[in-house]
Amino acid sequence: MGLSPIDVYRDILPKTNCGDCGEKSCLAFAAKVVSENVSLSKCPHVLRENIAHYQKILDNQHKDGLYAKRDPAKDAVEWAEQRAALTDIKDLPYRIGGEIVEVDGKQALKLPYFGTHVYITNDGIYSNEIELDHWERVFLYNHIAQGGKSNPIGKFVPFHELPNTISKIKSLERHIKRPLEEYFTGKIELLRQRGISLGAKDVSREFSSCDLALLFYPLPKVPVLILFWDEETEEEHMPAQINLLFDETIIEHLDIESILFLLEKLANLLMDAK
Ligand code: SF4
Repeated sequence: MGLSPIDVYRDILPKTNCGDCGEKSCLAFAAKVVSENVSLSKCPHVLRENIAHYQKILDNQHKDGLYAKRDPAKDAVEWAEQRAALTDIKDLPYRIGGEIVEVDGKQALKLPYFGTHVYITNDGIYSNEIELDHWERVFLYNHIAQGGKSNPIGKFVPFHELPNTISKIKSLERHIKRPLEEYFTGKIELLRQRGISLGAKDVSREFSSCDLALLFYPLPKVPVLILFWDEETEEEHMPAQINLLFDETIIEHLDIESILFLLEKLANLLMDAK
């Protein structure tokens, strides 16, 4: 058993909450000492002999990872990796699209992704074209684990018609739809250009009620349709409006959190934000 924050607080620190270490309380300092390996000596009131004795114990337990602060993104990648580990690479083109290629003598799935490609092997996911952060890997692993075999059927539905989305609708409105509407007000041509540069097809002819319709394939079996009405200023002022629509089969390929992740990434790419 190592030293927990409570042990450090109870047995080593003076419990005066003086703030000289920069923390609001001795307990907050104890938590940092244990989980982030902050040196005990940062508290000027700990007895020297106690520092000498306890710091060694704390250093060793930190090396062993005991009570160490965990990185939620890394934990999520590990969890998602395990979830996807049972997948046979050979099945993936049938389930999620892409093609099997050989990379360094190993089989890999080359998967189109937001106008670029990622490679999926038994050792992980990588790309030569873009940098993939932890959350992006989690998203892709979830897609690999969940991806059903259905192809899109061409029936597009709004987010709120997908199951179990009620609690996420406000978040979609606030963080994705509204920023897009504000950003592209009066900039329909910019939206068209950015969409096309991300591989979208202009399908406005098929959706004549809106000013612009763009069909994206961020993943081979996950189409997203964006319908855009620019603001009207002539008679009554009507602000710009965006509708985001999904093929009904999307729920076979992504869970709701992953759909939001995908939309947020698409919105950021369109607005040219990182
Ligand atoms: S300096 Fe020491 S005694 Fe003061 S709050 Fe920090 S840990 Fe507690």
